[in-house]
Amino acid sequence: MKRFISSNFKGICTIDNDFEEALIRMNDIARKYNITVLVNSSYRVDAVVPGAIVTPATHSNHMIGHAIDCNLELNGILYNSVKMQADTGIVKQFINEVKASGLRWGGDFGKPDPVHFDDGLNIKNMALWTAKYNEMHGVKA
Ligand SMILES: [Zn+2]
Repeated sequence: MKRFISSNFKGICTIDNDFEEALIRMNDIARKYNITVLVNSSYRVDAVVPGAIVTPATHSNHMIGHAIDCNLELNGILYNSVKMQADTGIVKQFINEVKASGLRWGGDFGKPDPVHFDDGLNIKNMALWTAKYNEMHGVKA
């Protein structure tokens, strides 16, 4: 777990070491478009209800430090959730490039969450997600 600090990110951004490469790429794209990424949420210690049905939603990538929620700022304009979803210009281009770099964007989810970006580890590799969760939250296997 580490604090991610970079040129175009603002706000407290706590992530798993394995998620850093993805955010370095995201920062490079933000720098190219002169966008500031305002991080509202990153690693979260949410409780997993014991015995609950395993779904990606209950196994959020926030719980292992592989997700961020953010707003964006471009030319002094704040892009909140609604504006991030609706944009068809530079912000849209930024989001598309972040996706092309390997991250998922919450705006594409069935229930859209436009402020959310993650690497989809809970979909790609639930075993690794679980191992990381257990290690970070002190759960004995
Ligand atoms: Zn999120």
